[in-house]
This record gives sequence, structure tokens and C-alpha cells, in this order.
Amino acid sequence: MAEPDVVVIGAGVVGVSAAIAARARGLSVLLVDREGPAAGASAGNAGAFAFSDILPLASPRILRKAPGWMVDPLGPLTIPLGHALKIAPWMIHFWRACSPARVKRSTVAQAALMDLSKAELDSFLARTGTAPMLRKEGNLEVYEGEAQFNASLAGWRAKQEHGIGFEHLDAAGMAAVQPGLAPRFSHGTFTPGWYSIADPKLYTLALADHFHAAGGAIERAEVTALRPVENGVEITAPGRTIRAAHVVVAAGALSHRIARTIGEAIPLETERGYNTTLPADAFDLRTQVTFGGHGFVVTRLSTGIRVGGAVELGGLDRPPNFRRSAAMLAKAQAFLPGLRPDGGVQWMGFRPSLPDSLPAIGRARATPRVIYAFGHGHLGLTQSAGTARLVADLLVGAPSAIDIGAFSAQRFSQKA
Ligand SMILES: Cc1cc2nc3c(=O)[nH]c(=O)nc-3n(C[C@H](O)[C@H](O)[C@H](O)COP(=O)(O)OP(=O)(O)OC[C@H]3O[C@@H](n4cnc5c(N)ncnc54)[C@H](O)[C@@H]3O)c2cc1C
Repeated sequence: MAEPDVVVIGAGVVGVSAAIAARARGLSVLLVDREGPAAGASAGNAGAFAFSDILPLASPRILRKAPGWMVDPLGPLTIPLGHALKIAPWMIHFWRACSPARVKRSTVAQAALMDLSKAELDSFLARTGTAPMLRKEGNLEVYEGEAQFNASLAGWRAKQEHGIGFEHLDAAGMAAVQPGLAPRFSHGTFTPGWYSIADPKLYTLALADHFHAAGGAIERAEVTALRPVENGVEITAPGRTIRAAHVVVAAGALSHRIARTIGEAIPLETERGYNTTLPADAFDLRTQVTFGGHGFVVTRLSTGIRVGGAVELGGLDRPPNFRRSAAMLAKAQAFLPGLRPDGGVQWMGFRPSLPDSLPAIGRARATPRVIYAFGHGHLGLTQSAGTARLVADLLVGAPSAIDIGAFSAQRFSQKA
């Protein structure tokens, strides 16, 4: 491709979806990835379209829970000792984002992006031939005892205000939705509007195939720098330079390194997550089950039963600690006594996370020709179709489907 209208950097679910949306607006698009499609977090996530997850992680609720979680080094939240100082600036932004006013603003923005993403999803799947991969099986969040359930109610009320449907269940109600839960779980909440994809890696690869069939180009290259030039952007990769009218940065947890080359410091960190994927017959799972008090979920995929979650604020370079996958699997066995734990494959992935739990979607400070689409944290798959729509609107200069002010990457350099 001589000089494409758009180069999208990163072929995870966000980049591929954005590339498809740009192509559908008639633009010539080159998608580049240092490893090829579905190499990052998009390959191994839990496969949920978690549209009801509108409450930001950065909140007084997490500040209350975090100290208890961090007591267990293999528990839901860990900061490895060697990384604590490095992550301090991000933590300060996180702490600032926990004020009630900021939480309210983030929730409104997150809910708008969720609504858009849900509204876009069915037609996006239909256009890309991936509709058969969608499962509408809901999510069951389970609680150990009345006190834990009662503590969740304020959050559910906030979700209700944003029109999210759910049903609180007792033990018998839970057993009707998902048989085989350990009796320690006395209460649950079922969210029917929570969807899943058959397998997140196969989905991203299918999207990449669709993009290619629709005339998009995919190449392997590691982008090391961007440079604004007249009427475009120059993209540097080892041994080559590409020019494009626009660039979309969708490189997941590495996106800030690319933004830095055009002079923008963005506090992107990674919340590393872990899982184990068991054979498909490991458990008769009817819905996704969320063990919120323990920070993990169990999901049925076409490729197996996936047990995973947890947050390790451990940076991009340290090796995985798969004892975390094993710890979650051991808990899953205790919580779902019929679960067969053998034959699993462990995985670790880098969630690309900004401190206030919102993504960066919008133009770079240095040039309007560079558009950011990263930092979706726990929700990149969920928000992929909505993000793609917003990126395509920006590329062609169309009015934005929703107000994207809250997603500006420059928000961290302004006073709250
Ligand atoms: C355990 C776990 C469970 C999760 N569960 C869910 C879930 O159920 N639902 C949900 O919505 N989200 C979930 N997530 C989060 C979700 O996986 C991410 O938000 C999402 O995958 C991010 O997509 P992305 O395209 O931005 O990044 P990635 O998928 O990481 O893709 C980034 C791509 O950029 C490429 N790249 C990086 N640097 C360069 C460069 N310099 N040049 C060229 N290419 C480059 C990489 O090779 C990679 O392919 C989960 C995450 C984890 C870890």
C-alpha cells in the first residue's frame, strides 16, 4: 500500500475493530502489529461483554477493599515489592480519581461508552460474519453471606440508575441458574444483559480475516516512533518508514511508549491478569460466574472452561508468576466442587490501564492526525465495537456518537 489513509498500530481487538470501522468508511487502512493479530491481552481474556460493569475500579469501594486483598500475595490484588515505587505516580492519579465527584463523572462516561458499545455490537458482528460467536448467557455474581451481599447493594443501585437490569437471587435461585456452587455462596445477582464471545482469540483472528477480505492490509512491524509531517504522520519501524494521513495508536499496554515519541506522557500502566483454561468438559457451566470477593471469574468458551482474573500491578518486564493462576484454580475447585482441575493451560496478559478506569479515545496533543484508542483496562473486548465507531467518526471528521471529552488522553495533565 503506497501511502494509506490510515495506519492502525496494534492488532488486538481494539485495533482490528477500529481498522474494520475505518475501512467501512471507505478509507485505505494498513494494520501493523509487531507480532501479528491477537498477540496481546485480546487473546486470553475472559471473553465477556461486561456491559453492566460501569462502575470505575478507582473508587472509595476499592480503597476500602484493597488493603485486605493485598494481605494475600496470591490474592486478587498485588503490587510486587520491586514495582511499588515505579507505580507510585499512577497510584496518585488513581487515588485522585477515587473522589465521589470523579467517580460520578467516570461512571456517566463509562455508561455512555457501554451503551454505545452494546448498541454497535450486533450490527458489527453481523457485518463481520462473527455473529454466531456471540453468547447471551448472562453473568452470575455470587456472595458469601448476607454482609457481603448487602455491601454490594449500593453498587447495584447505581447500576439501576443507568438502566441496567439484574435480579438478586437466594441459594435456590442461584442453583436454578448455575447448579454446583458450594453452599458458602448464599446470595447472588444475575445480569442477563452480560454477553460472552465463544473465544476471544478466535474472535480477534476472525475480525482480522474479515478486515483483510474487505481490502485492508495487515503487516508485521514494530513501531518505534511517530513524527508529525505536513499533511500526515511518519511512522518508523526497524528498517522502514511509512507515511499515512492518519495514525491510530491501539497498541494496548505499550501505547504510551509510542505516544511518548510525539511528546505526550500518558500514565498508562498494566494490570497483569492470569488464568487457566481447562478442557471443555471440566465443568457444566451455564453462565459466567463472578467470584467478586476473590477477584476472578469462571467462563465457558468454545475452547474450554477459563478460570481467571486478579490484578498484579507488576509492569511489562517482570516474568509471570503462574502461582497466581494456580491459586485461582484451587479456589475455583473449592467454590465449584465438581470442577475437574486437570489439563489446564496457564496464561498471563497485560491489561492496558489508565488510573481512572476510562480509556483514552481522542486526538493526540501534538497533532490531530494521531488518534488514541487504548487503555481499556478490564473492558477492551466489551468496548471494542463502540471504540471502533468513535475512532471512525474522528477519522472522517463526523460528529461523535457520544461526548468523548472524558476520554481525552490529556485529562491527566489538567487539574481535576
Ligand atoms: C485475565 C484477563 C481477563 C480479561 N477479561 C476481559 C473480559 O472478559 N472482557 C473484556 O472486555 N476485557 C477483558 N480483559 C481486558 C482485555 O483483554 C483488554 O482490555 C483488551 O484485550 C485490550 O485490547 P487492545 O487491542 O487494546 O490490546 P492488546 O490485545 O494487548 O493488543 C495490542 C497489540 O499491539 C501490539 N503492539 C504493541 N506495541 C506495538 C508496537 N510498538 N508496534 C506494533 N504493534 C505493537 C501487540 O503485539 C498487540 O497485538 C481481560 C484481561 C485480562 C488480562
